[in-house]
Amino acid sequence: MKYKVRPTRISPRSSAQMPKIRKAFDVATADRSPRTGRVMPAPIELSTDQHSVDQQPTYRGRFAPSPTGPLHFGSLVAALGSYLDAFSHGGKWLVRIEDLDPPREIPGASDHILATLESFGFEWTGSVLYQSTRHAAYEAALGRLQSHAATYRCHCTRKAIALAARAAPATRRDFIVPADAETRESIYPGTCRTLQQPAAGAYALRLKVAGQTVAFVDALQGPVAQSLQREVGDFVLRRSDGLFAYQLAVVVDDAEQGITDIVRGADLLDSTPRQIFLGQQLGLPVPRYLHLPVAVNPAGGKLSKQTRAMPIDAMHAPAAWLCNALRFLGHAPPHDAPSWPAREVLAWGAKHWRRENLPRTRAQPDPTQF
Ligand SMILES: [Zn+2]
Repeated sequence: MKYKVRPTRISPRSSAQMPKIRKAFDVATADRSPRTGRVMPAPIELSTDQHSVDQQPTYRGRFAPSPTGPLHFGSLVAALGSYLDAFSHGGKWLVRIEDLDPPREIPGASDHILATLESFGFEWTGSVLYQSTRHAAYEAALGRLQSHAATYRCHCTRKAIALAARAAPATRRDFIVPADAETRESIYPGTCRTLQQPAAGAYALRLKVAGQTVAFVDALQGPVAQSLQREVGDFVLRRSDGLFAYQLAVVVDDAEQGITDIVRGADLLDSTPRQIFLGQQLGLPVPRYLHLPVAVNPAGGKLSKQTRAMPIDAMHAPAAWLCNALRFLGHAPPHDAPSWPAREVLAWGAKHWRRENLPRTRAQPDPTQF
């Protein structure tokens, strides 16, 4: 099984905006097409027997926002951290819109997010990948898992799972402090795993997890280990309403985009062992991970639309937002940097980015809310 990476193009608009950084990207990583003169990506071929990205010379990072609202400070931190880490490794940075869950999306939010990124001076390699266009790929991945009997149909309601989980006390712990009720799920007790005759009606598809612990070393948070069986249970890949689960889409799409290094907020640390396990089941290479501290509000909760995080107004003082995000990530831009053009702050960050400056914590107060 080989994954082709599509030819990519550089947005002419953002190239013009950021000549310095563009040039450095070109020199470090990119080849030019002899025919068109356009910057072309290095070809990447991933084979099923390759379970590590260590042999791949090209760093490919990404930022993958959900269009559930405008960018807030927490998402700017993730965008900036992943961008500067990719840049400092001579890598590429891709953008993916995770528009997987239409009921939770806000019309126009995708465009607003992309416009905000551009006004900060961020530029990305290739076209934006929209998960709403990827259903056939998710279906194909499910088909591969089903052909190995790695999945099963689950007819349980959320309420039934919560009741069963209460009967058998949960041992699940969240890696991250701010876990709101929405993201805290019950451990699935495996009720439907052994059903001989699946019942009629709507069903979710779950992946069977194995008994062994999934362990990896996060580049910032250090060693992480999770027993999927004890702490998560067999998890959903396609919901009973037909929507694909985030865990499936993210694994399939990171492979499609040839992502080697995932830099994102530590609120997703809890999902990483599931994604590694699922990637292994699909024969995909395991990326490297770095989980940044997440910004929390005064009550200690994760920033989100629900907690009324202040949306970023990039039209107003974008450089100041970038300076706040740099400081949040342990970097100290010059005192007058908030008055610079945003792209110069970004260029300063690219030049001074040091992983060893990053705070080794999973959550920090949002400096823009205090
Ligand atoms: Zn069930």
